[in-house]
Amino acid sequence: MRLFNTLTQRIEPLEPTGNRVTLYVCGITPYDTTHLGHAFINVVYDTLARYLRWRGLDVLYVQNVTDIDDDILRKAKELGLAWDELGRQEVARYLADLRALNVRMPDHYVWASRETAKMQELIGSLISKGLAYVRDGWVYYSIERDPGFGVLADAAGYVGYDAWLRTANERGNFPDDPRKRNPLDFVLWQGRQPGEPAWPSPWGPGRPGWHIECSAMALKYLGATVDIHGGGADLIFPHHTCEIAQSENATGVRPFVRVWMHCAMVEYANEKMSKSLGNLVRVRDLLPDYSADAVRVMLLSHHYRDAWEYTVEDMRACAALAERLRTAASCAPARGDESQWARDAACQQAYLEMAAALEDDFHTPRALAALDQLAAHTLEVRAPAQIATLRELAGVLGLRLGAEDDAGEAPPPLLCAVGEPPLPPEE
Ligand SMILES: [Zn+2]
Repeated sequence: MRLFNTLTQRIEPLEPTGNRVTLYVCGITPYDTTHLGHAFINVVYDTLARYLRWRGLDVLYVQNVTDIDDDILRKAKELGLAWDELGRQEVARYLADLRALNVRMPDHYVWASRETAKMQELIGSLISKGLAYVRDGWVYYSIERDPGFGVLADAAGYVGYDAWLRTANERGNFPDDPRKRNPLDFVLWQGRQPGEPAWPSPWGPGRPGWHIECSAMALKYLGATVDIHGGGADLIFPHHTCEIAQSENATGVRPFVRVWMHCAMVEYANEKMSKSLGNLVRVRDLLPDYSADAVRVMLLSHHYRDAWEYTVEDMRACAALAERLRTAASCAPARGDESQWARDAACQQAYLEMAAALEDDFHTPRALAALDQLAAHTLEVRAPAQIATLRELAGVLGLRLGAEDDAGEAPPPLLCAVGEPPLPPEE
């Protein structure tokens, strides 16, 4: 398989070690509803994992939940809820929405607030190497001490210090924080603020910074080198750039990631779909009117690297395609002799075209076109072999075509080991 690597800006062969492919995808900050941008990312990586497994590879897929952060604390306060209760409620809703789209759970679904021990281990290592410093109970990564910082950002077009600073400031950096040596230094551990939850640490009670979370979880669950690291393209800088700096310097192992695979943004009404802009199309707004297969077809009808805009016309056209597939897969087989059980040339071609499309930088629109052709042929010949092939190939894309849901049981609300609990509230 070949994938576009954001770090090298080239389409490169995926070269995992042995039969195992490790996949890490940045997950949500659970304080608001699941919109099509989340659904797109999750359906793309769920389909990627399904495809790699169908090819016989052993995929180990990890996704995190940023369940402690400024937005959660603010929203919980507005709603009068405990921060962890808000997180549990929102994650349950989010997973229910994804499950409705037949998205399987990652192998490890990891909550940030339960992994503070691994984060502290990494932070300690960065401090001991002179790459991080402590100020009043806060710990910062020093970008001036790291001459290798920023390669991913530069490759993706955020070139040079000024561009980094501008972008970081737009994305929640605090350049005027008086504890920082350089405005671009980023927080590894933040000291306790009044009324906030905190965990004990060697630098005083507090909570982790966002970037260290993903380094810690990727390293803990997948090892020092991850085959594919995914997420939205808006995470390239600063988040993923900081992940590389932390991970490679803490472990001394390069590369942290073999292929950086970023999903383009989903737009609506000419703007990026985002909570802050309020232009959201939610999964649960669509599901009363369209089948889960229709929504999945709509998401996969866009190549993961192309930004796209949600439109009702596009949704309807994709619903029609999903219906054509379902009709063909559900047709009554014509009566005939045993030769009908053999896969004919059209089946072979559908197999080859679908695999070729997905091998070529995961081109799901072309894979769907191959399925559509096979569906038309299946309706003509109505032979069991064609129907079975159509169902198998649709299943690789996570389409049910009227069959049972295969996303498995709904997960329990907390899937990982309970880490160190937060300190008791301050008086
Ligand atoms: Zn992340």
